[in-house]
Amino acid sequence: MTDVKTYQQFIGGEWVDAVSGETLAVENPANYQVVARVPSSGEEDVNRAVDAAAKAFETWSLTTPQDRSLALLKIADIFEANSDELGRIEASQTGKPVDFAIGEMAVAVDLFRFFAGACRVMDGLAVNEFLPGHTAMVRRDPIGVVASIAPWNYPLYMAAWKLGPALATGNTVVLKPSARTPLSALRFAELIGDQLPAGVLNVLSGSGGTMGDLLVGHPKVRMVSITGDTVTGKHIASVAAGTVKRLHLELGGKAPVIVLDDADVALAAETIKGAGYFNSGQDCTAACRVIAGPAVYEKLVAALAEQVGSINWGDPTTRDDLEMGSLIAKAQADKVEGMVNRALEGKAELVVGGKRPDMVGAYFQPTLITNPDQGSEIVQDEVFGPVVTVQRAVDEEQAIAWANDVKFGLASSVFTGSIAKAMRVARRLQFGTVWVNEHVILASENPHGGVKESGWGKDGSKYALEDYTYVKNITINTGI
Ligand code: NAD
Repeated sequence: MTDVKTYQQFIGGEWVDAVSGETLAVENPANYQVVARVPSSGEEDVNRAVDAAAKAFETWSLTTPQDRSLALLKIADIFEANSDELGRIEASQTGKPVDFAIGEMAVAVDLFRFFAGACRVMDGLAVNEFLPGHTAMVRRDPIGVVASIAPWNYPLYMAAWKLGPALATGNTVVLKPSARTPLSALRFAELIGDQLPAGVLNVLSGSGGTMGDLLVGHPKVRMVSITGDTVTGKHIASVAAGTVKRLHLELGGKAPVIVLDDADVALAAETIKGAGYFNSGQDCTAACRVIAGPAVYEKLVAALAEQVGSINWGDPTTRDDLEMGSLIAKAQADKVEGMVNRALEGKAELVVGGKRPDMVGAYFQPTLITNPDQGSEIVQDEVFGPVVTVQRAVDEEQAIAWANDVKFGLASSVFTGSIAKAMRVARRLQFGTVWVNEHVILASENPHGGVKESGWGKDGSKYALEDYTYVKNITINTGI
């Protein structure tokens, strides 16, 4: 076995191995090299972490917003100062180009700063006498121990979406990063751990299959926040139902990009290149499903073919000038290949890419496909790879109908030269986000989250603070 670092888990302010002593290998999908080992958390680890978080809740929940805000600001400063190292760790476990991974750190740092400020200005209903002789008020109180379950596509960024609002509002957390990508969260905890009282943040590194149900089903866990696949989200919701936990579900997406006939084609094509192939298309909001007006279709496909053909991709462990690296794992590349092959067996046509390159690592060529059926798998299901489809709609009405005709409802966009048309389309799109002449960008102030099988709850924005608190009514018999 290669001599690599073995990490420990962070439980109750201490660094510990799994009680079983077992470890899991973490691989760089860009070259299939093992880069580290982590503890394979089991039942006893879960119990210890939840107990530590429950104990810490007794005091952390009573701290002032100012105390929590100051802690988050310090965490943000340390995070920022170590962005380069954390970004490199992120790249080593995801196959991303290093610059892109380091860039993600800045977004995650800002989330801590945003929630540090936001928790100090939470507002609510004014205190009032709604019944004679009674004064009523509303509090927003922390929920308790939150199990935060993060995916592999933006490991630390997604963890920041969860940690920021949970900690800012006085909850304590057991964070479970994806077993494919636990290293950045563990290193982050090493760096910032002593900024929080013991047990406020705990990080377990086991796999969802081994310890996920134990964590989600634990009676002392009062909220589960998961970003992941819709199938995983449904399973977690069913396990959490046993103890009626608060759920925050950020699940799959299949974002449509409606390009109307009056759109700026060059802008649309350039934006789709960025938003469809960024992170190898492994993005829940990826611009993966283009629906073009009849007059603009041919011109758009030509412009997209040029853009997609120009993507600079390859092995990020040997080159630092890339726009796209590998996928997350061989299994993901297999999945993408299968979906593309099945699409091309149907009536879809290949314009660019479509193949696994002859390289060691989880690679797939940036791919552009036209003319798939609306009901086909490639249009209906998440590919989560560097694959964009283009459909030709007869008119705006059909474009909207096709855009909405999937089980997901996370994000969407419309390209048009008319603000009136943009608003007309945006109003009818059943998605948590609609970008106009844009796709994928997000500030910490923007609420991100979906409808339908994309889940419920918001990341980022003040709405996340609401999700991580519960409304308590206090009514006092004042007699006056
Ligand atoms: P996944 O569902 O396979 O895993 C997500 C997390 O759930 C991982 O930490 C995994 O270990 C854990 N998990 C798996 N089974 C579990 C169980 N029984 N109990 C508890 N935890 C369990 O997702 P992924 O493959 O890591 O990420 C890709 C998916 O995430 C895509 O579907 C993508 O659309 C989605 N995603 C959504 C958003 C969003 O904001 N809606 C953002 C990023 C990714």
